[in-house]
Amino acid sequence: MRALTVLSGGIGGARFLQGLLHALDTGRLPGVEPDAVITVVTNTADDLWVHGLKVCPDLDTVMYTLGDGIDPGRGWGRRDETWSVREELAAYGVEPTWFGLGDRDVATHLVRTQMLEAGYPLSEVTTALCRRWLTPTYGERVRLLPMTDDRVETHVAVADPDAPSGKRVVHFQEYWIRLAAAVPAETVVSVGLDEAAPAPGVLEAISGADLVIVPPSNPVVSVGTILGVPGVRDALAATAAPVVGLSPIVGGQHVRGMAQQLLTSIGVEVSAAGVGLHYGARSRGGVLDGWLVDSVDADAVPALEAAGLRAAAAPLMMTSADATAAMAAAALDLVTG
Ligand code: GDP
Ligand code: CA
Repeated sequence: MRALTVLSGGIGGARFLQGLLHALDTGRLPGVEPDAVITVVTNTADDLWVHGLKVCPDLDTVMYTLGDGIDPGRGWGRRDETWSVREELAAYGVEPTWFGLGDRDVATHLVRTQMLEAGYPLSEVTTALCRRWLTPTYGERVRLLPMTDDRVETHVAVADPDAPSGKRVVHFQEYWIRLAAAVPAETVVSVGLDEAAPAPGVLEAISGADLVIVPPSNPVVSVGTILGVPGVRDALAATAAPVVGLSPIVGGQHVRGMAQQLLTSIGVEVSAAGVGLHYGARSRGGVLDGWLVDSVDADAVPALEAAGLRAAAAPLMMTSADATAAMAAAALDLVTG
């Protein structure tokens, strides 16, 4: 295998990619060439404009994580960050105050925004940013692609007794950061998704892959949005590559984030089996050939197999690069072994 494609969100996808690269570097992926190209198709529906800057949280999380610039404690943003810009903005009393723009991070958003305003599509801007973060370490081995160059934004409707309709719609980032996902998500809509075109290279990365991996990313607002880009599902249905996923739900709960709230809002059971069945088997109109669940969810395997999936249980906590590399190896084994 020379070409692997990963459909990634932010933190879950980025940590998985670290383990995948570690597995490759330590020869733990039988049949995969050591210099195989990894194409990361990344969710952009979390993107937002803030203080005139275009911010792409998932692209930046993957880029900073693989480029060793991430703050390891937070899992997002730059290491050794300072917050003078945020304090100065707060001193002017300008909104939003809930979105923390770090000083180092601001440089990334300035470069991105300038390039976008000069007319470059997000995919080309991303390649330019990755010249700093990925090329020195990986050369051409790791390619980061936004799922689309078009503007797509996930919005969440929440109950608001003060609003005339009894509801208020907020940007996904506001739901997650300001509201801490503490109120039920009534509806989740990714505005612009239906009309979005896949970014250059996205469909080719799926159709030309030797293996497609759905990492333990959020099934609704990360993987769900990538699958919603017109053409992506068809490319997955048609590719000759096996498609394997790993569950972000362990023991009936998300490991971090807000997947539980969002799965509930779309009527999917919050369980490893629930998410696997929601994605479904390619042989039955879904997107997966194999679905790996955590060892604690081993009892889900028969139901998944009955639904046409290859399924197995293995430890799925990304506690170290070694543990995550073992997950990547188990996923590969599930669909090729
Ligand atoms: P985000 O965009 O930053 O929210 O990141 P992703 O969408 O890529 O990943 C979020 C998902 O990763 C959440 O649903 C978590 O449950 C899942 N996740 C985080 N850490 C782990 C882990 O160690 N193991 C597993 N199986 N899932 C994890
Ligand atoms: Ca995200």
